[in-house]
Amino acid sequence: MIALASTLLEIQERLQAAGLAAREARTDAEWMLCELSGCTRASLYTHFPKLSEAQQAQLDHWVQQRSERRPLQYVLGRATFRDLDLEVNEAVLVPRPETEQLVDLVLEIYAPGRAGALKIADVGTGSGALGLSLTKIYGNCRMFCLEISPAALEVARRNAAREGLSRRISFLEGDLLQPLETVHCADPAGKLDLIVSNPPYLTTAEWVCAAPELHFEPRVALDAGEDGLNALRRLVAEAPAFLKPGAWLLLEIGCDQGAALLAWAKQFSDWSRVRVQRDWAGRDRFFLAQNQA
Ligand code: GLN
Repeated sequence: MIALASTLLEIQERLQAAGLAAREARTDAEWMLCELSGCTRASLYTHFPKLSEAQQAQLDHWVQQRSERRPLQYVLGRATFRDLDLEVNEAVLVPRPETEQLVDLVLEIYAPGRAGALKIADVGTGSGALGLSLTKIYGNCRMFCLEISPAALEVARRNAAREGLSRRISFLEGDLLQPLETVHCADPAGKLDLIVSNPPYLTTAEWVCAAPELHFEPRVALDAGEDGLNALRRLVAEAPAFLKPGAWLLLEIGCDQGAALLAWAKQFSDWSRVRVQRDWAGRDRFFLAQNQA
């Protein structure tokens, strides 16, 4: 185990020298060794194998990349989201744990075993995290994964194929909800039961001042203008045209945007119910609105 201890320490020191906090440097070092060895984080400490020369070189490359402050998920090429293991690269946002909670909110609205196939859109799908999770949960749903970036859409497509979900998903390229017009979701018979989105919601100032890691992520997925509400405002204004009576819009938002978005939603009489919901950390994080029944 001396080999493990000294390898972990060496990586940790290199990552700390690049500006990472001690705890993050340690866990990132552990994750890299897990990935390389096939160990879990627990078995790493009991079954750590001797690394081959090729593995050493790979590890060195990863540490170098992480030292440049590239997010660990891009370095390793994958991220977990609920029970999904997703390919990620710099074309897509790294899925965040907060966003997993958005899926729980959907589960509170629609029971998984319910009769009738749901029609759902995931706007700005990125890696496909939200859309794929919901497609997996609602076994007979019809999903539309919308995305402005063709490179991101390719990543989402590959993730869906790996999960065996492609058949029930349409991947559509375009700006926010606009692609839904091409598949007639604004027609009375084509409307949706649910629109979910983790759109960009940082202010430009927040984006500029963000940790170096965020600048490896697509700016289009993060920066939403002066008050960070550009995409959120449009979704609240434009979603009713695509929703059935009684259907829902669920959005991830920034922790200080709830009041502004509730006030914005008031002017659209389509919404019968609107509310803001906190995340596990107690911060306003989600906006929910129900279309008039
Ligand atoms: N939660 C992300 C962050 O603060 C922002 C995600 C987004 O803008 N959709 O890094």
